[in-house]
Amino acid sequence: MKYDIIIVGAGPGGIFSAFELTKLNSNLKIAIFEAGNPLEKRKCPIDGVKVKNCIKCPTCAIMNGFGGAGAFSDGKYNITNQFGGSLYEYIGKNEAIDLMKYVDEINLAYGGEGTKLYSTADTKIKKMCLENGLHLLDAQVRHLGTDINYIVLENLYNHLKDKVEFFFRTPVEKVEKNGEGYTVITADGRYDCDKCIISVGRSGSKWMETVCNDLDIPTKSNRVDIGVRVELPAEIFSSLTDELYESKIVYRTAKFEDLVRTFCMNPHGAVVNENTNGIITVNGHSYEDPEKHTENTNFALLVSKHFSEPFKDSNGYGESIARLSNMLGGGVIVQRFGDLTRGRRSNAERISEGYVTPTLAATPGDLSLVIPKRILDGIIEMIYALDKICPGTANDDTLLYGVEVKFYNMEVEIDNNLETRNKGLFVIGDGSGVTHSLSHASASGVYVARYIAESMK
Ligand SMILES: Cc1cc2nc3c(=O)[nH]c(=O)nc-3n(C[C@H](O)[C@H](O)[C@H](O)COP(=O)(O)OP(=O)(O)OC[C@H]3O[C@@H](n4cnc5c(N)ncnc54)[C@H](O)[C@@H]3O)c2cc1C
Repeated sequence: MKYDIIIVGAGPGGIFSAFELTKLNSNLKIAIFEAGNPLEKRKCPIDGVKVKNCIKCPTCAIMNGFGGAGAFSDGKYNITNQFGGSLYEYIGKNEAIDLMKYVDEINLAYGGEGTKLYSTADTKIKKMCLENGLHLLDAQVRHLGTDINYIVLENLYNHLKDKVEFFFRTPVEKVEKNGEGYTVITADGRYDCDKCIISVGRSGSKWMETVCNDLDIPTKSNRVDIGVRVELPAEIFSSLTDELYESKIVYRTAKFEDLVRTFCMNPHGAVVNENTNGIITVNGHSYEDPEKHTENTNFALLVSKHFSEPFKDSNGYGESIARLSNMLGGGVIVQRFGDLTRGRRSNAERISEGYVTPTLAATPGDLSLVIPKRILDGIIEMIYALDKICPGTANDDTLLYGVEVKFYNMEVEIDNNLETRNKGLFVIGDGSGVTHSLSHASASGVYVARYIAESMK
């Protein structure tokens, strides 16, 4: 089988590169290989009744399949260079913002019309944060919500399905150089192409490492973010979330001068399990549809750990901490803030007596046995700092779920065209280590598609 372009991975990066390629040149023969299922077959078996915890399916319905890791996400598309990745370092700040706006237009045209675009411009919250030692980062955020995000993906799939050949449940095992082009090898066969775009996201991080080893592509890895997911009554954070929906706030701790930041805020949302390479960590999302709203808001508090030589395995470090929580709690651990500050574990009774009802069935326990002291001290400090702008954050009943780990793929050496030193082989999205978000991953897909379409004229 011979294609002009093979795309590995049908997450936002892969989808948007296919979208743009087919738009720019309808004669191109394109195939997409995806380890997971088509969108409608992506069903996580956890139903809270028969299956309460992750049963470690061969491909995770949350992380793999059409739509990638973002399919059941909150669908928050942040238009900013201040977080979500460093794509701008490769393609320039203006280009990066223009591409994120372009992706936003497509999302609106394919089902997202009518969803709200929030912005930090001219907000008084910025001043209030500064007065309390907190820094609000600038961004516009389109909140599609889990429900509308799904509809957009469904529409994009319907648009692409006759223009691109999809191979679902077909993980690519190997990519080999083949003259000027590449051969993509799966359990079912070998497929040749002139250009190959790899967009395998976080779930493909281990596989990406093998590709880089095989094809002699340099990589570097030095960062992991570790923290907890905070859950509290939605009213406590409503002064922020009503105006901004999501606010990225950074705090420098007094004790260690570490930076702690808020991440992935979900007003009226739910806390969920996340399975990365068989390790259960915590995440969150929320629906646009008010009928699916919960009474709680959740967000993560994360601390970045950067390592220097000789240690290289930052993700291994994060995994070990997550494994510890899995060992003690059989999965995610939940603890009341009041129990943590009193140095005692939470138990089912204390959780049920609290005023915050957990949205995730996690194991009550003690996060201080899992999270390194320095990180936990920073998180506790930030909770008290947030309490000054959103009184009630540091209430005893505030729930902390752990651990939340944000793994960063090792950074793959790519040039300003997102091309590796092997000409014709591109690495985009979260799998490149350059992006960490829906908007940046999607933008990288459009960027590479435009470059390839131009070069194949
Ligand atoms: C629960 C959750 C909520 C999130 N919420 C948000 C949010 O609100 N806003 C935001 O900006 N970001 C959010 N994110 C992150 C966001 O989903 C990712 O940044 C984004 O999906 C990255 O896109 P990608 O295309 O690079 O990779 P992915 O979306 O991870 O897609 C990669 C695809 O490649 C496939 N794949 C992997 N290896 C192979 C292989 N060997 N062969 C074939 N296929 C392979 C995978 O199955 C997957 O479908 C969330 C993530 C999760 C898990």
